[in-house]
Amino acid sequence: MRLFEAIIDANHRAVSGDNSAGLHPADFADELPVIALTCIDPRLNALFPNVLGLPGEQFIWLRNAGNIITSPLSSTMRSLALACAVKGGREIAIIGHTDCQVCKTTTSQLLDKLKALGVERSRLPDNINEFFGMFATERQNVVKACDIVRQSPLIGPKIPVHGLLVNIETGKLEWIVNGYESRQLSALPANNAFSPSTDASTRELGAGPMADFHFGEMKFPEMKIGDASVKIGASEAMPSSPPPIAPRVQPLPATPVVPPKIPVPPPIRARVNLPFGRR
Ligand SMILES: [Zn+2]
Repeated sequence: MRLFEAIIDANHRAVSGDNSAGLHPADFADELPVIALTCIDPRLNALFPNVLGLPGEQFIWLRNAGNIITSPLSSTMRSLALACAVKGGREIAIIGHTDCQVCKTTTSQLLDKLKALGVERSRLPDNINEFFGMFATERQNVVKACDIVRQSPLIGPKIPVHGLLVNIETGKLEWIVNGYESRQLSALPANNAFSPSTDASTRELGAGPMADFHFGEMKFPEMKIGDASVKIGASEAMPSSPPPIAPRVQPLPATPVVPPKIPVPPPIRARVNLPFGRR
């Protein structure tokens, strides 16, 4: 059993009430430490790394608002690359969470909130959605991030890139992108993301190996997998083009509206003992 197969198994058993569920990190020495990118939501503070069943020293934690990766060469991508090269990270996990406020914030709401903080619209890039990496669903955002990491020239094919979603109320993990399977596609010819022609690079990235990759039975009607709007240097340059991804921040009519919840502290004790107990 591979590391994340064991993590998911232990997590699901623990959530189901199995007090004996746990992970033996020593059994996975070749697959540790794990590098995780999560959202900045403070409710996650009590969940990680316990929800993965990993000891703290085997958990390299990167965070940004919405666990967003904007481009294959972005600042977050560089940190992921350094975490692998310098800190010896063996596997990468992009872990979104339910009830993400970045997902729930519309463009107009964001602009209003920024304005209330003294940030004028005229000083912001035209394409607000793309600039901040706003997204419409947490799952879609995780899939897109995994896609970009997998395509990035900064991450070698030896590193599995997983995508997960954690239920912020129960701690249950959902494995959205299996990095052990998608890694095999990396053996295909690499795209040159440093091509002087940004447009050509973008087209190549969009038509790369991931274009033929099927994420199980999951459907993402809002966005095609290959349409990850991967633009080299998008994190540095303020895009001036109209927002092609504007629909993403609109709430989907089909999505059941989750009533806003008071930020109740999660049951830490139960989660601390989740998959990380048995030795
Ligand atoms: Zn969030």
